[in-house]
Amino acid sequence: MMSPPLENDLKAAIRNIPDYPKPGIMFRDITTLLGNARAFRRAVDELVQPWPGTKIDKVAGIEARGFILGGAVAHQVSAGFVPIRKKGKLPHTTVRIAYSLEYGLDEMEMHEDAIVRGDKVILVDDLIATGGTAEGAVKLLRQMGAEILAACFIIDLPELGGAAKLRALDVPVRTLVSFEGH
Ligand code: AMP
Repeated sequence: MMSPPLENDLKAAIRNIPDYPKPGIMFRDITTLLGNARAFRRAVDELVQPWPGTKIDKVAGIEARGFILGGAVAHQVSAGFVPIRKKGKLPHTTVRIAYSLEYGLDEMEMHEDAIVRGDKVILVDDLIATGGTAEGAVKLLRQMGAEILAACFIIDLPELGGAAKLRALDVPVRTLVSFEGH
């Protein structure tokens, strides 16, 4: 876990929007954190802090906010970047997996040649809630032969169980701040 002052600093940089996109959901808006140079740098530094000197081949980011963070993290650790996208967006041959959302299923894809068997990969997204999205990404990456070193998120909603779900899949999870509830 992070030191309490640092967690509070990052929390203060995140904007909370009640009842978005629907009643009962508190949307954790990281655009304010991204717009704050100090908070953005600090978040990127802290996301990969446990892996100094580890050779990381690829950082995989989940559309869309995971692209912004994942790109910065990949640059930071001198790794390549792999986009995991909603279906139908990638131009070359893809591999696809279905994953569960709060209501129903969706599919995500990546290019079939984005990962070389044995690549050491860190997965990045802004927030983990139920873990359905990240679980899908882990399975897709593993299907292509990736070794997942960790999954990193700025925000954890621990009551929704996503981080525990990933740890049960033997994926080390790094989160920087947590909020109660949804
Ligand atoms: P899940 O698959 O339930 O872990 O949901 C994670 C995905 O949904 C991430 O890509 C998040 O960006 C988004 N998400 C879920 N809940 C919230 C929330 N309360 N605020 C902002 N984004 C959320």
